[in-house]
Amino acid sequence: MQFQGEPLTPDRCRALRGRAIALIPQSVGYLDPLMTVGQQVQRVGQLNGLSTRDARAAVDRTFARYELPVITRQRYPFQLSGGMARRVLVSTAVVTQADLVIADEPTPGLHPDVVTETLNHLRELAQGGRGVILITHDIDAALQVADHVAVFYAGTTVEIAAATDFATGNLRHPYTQALWRSLPQNEFVPVSGNQPSPDSLPSGCLFSDRCPWVTAECQVARPELRWVRQGWVRCIHAEG
Ligand code: SF4
Repeated sequence: MQFQGEPLTPDRCRALRGRAIALIPQSVGYLDPLMTVGQQVQRVGQLNGLSTRDARAAVDRTFARYELPVITRQRYPFQLSGGMARRVLVSTAVVTQADLVIADEPTPGLHPDVVTETLNHLRELAQGGRGVILITHDIDAALQVADHVAVFYAGTTVEIAAATDFATGNLRHPYTQALWRSLPQNEFVPVSGNQPSPDSLPSGCLFSDRCPWVTAECQVARPELRWVRQGWVRCIHAEG
């Protein structure tokens, strides 16, 4: 893995984590239940080099931006609604000024209004010039805000497509196509079979035991990512 052109070594990860790279965690349970949310977000600001005064001002600015009432600073996580707690988590990333924000499954279990609100906040961060990676199982959510979608299978990226490719059917990998067809609003047909477990991966292409296009050639080696129809695909038979 590389970040800004340099290998992401363990030492570099430690130096960048929470500063140049910020995480919006999956669950509001990641907030410290024993500390007010104002203190928590302020602490992140101070860890990013802000003075106490500047960190306090950054919290005020960020909370105002996300329409969190002033009193929210003094609240503990259990005193917040799900939507408010989610906005506090986004605030922890915003006060860092990180170049890259990774949002790890931020939407499951949320009310649809809060999902839209959370996605809009992520989009706004991207519009402001930050890189945003949204990790999700919710393709609809991703397509609402993403520019590009990377599809994973068995721990491997099998396709990177423009979000618009899903609407136009310009998908390259048989797994991505099957995933798209499986959605309720499309054909609602499941992909047959199961993902292989990490300790019994097939030889060659990881999708070979479920793929309708499989040939003997697919079982020889793991396919490399190829540039096909303006997107990346890990399939030797994907056509241009
Ligand atoms: S490489 Fe072969 S098995 Fe793998 S996705 Fe492509 S056609 Fe299917």
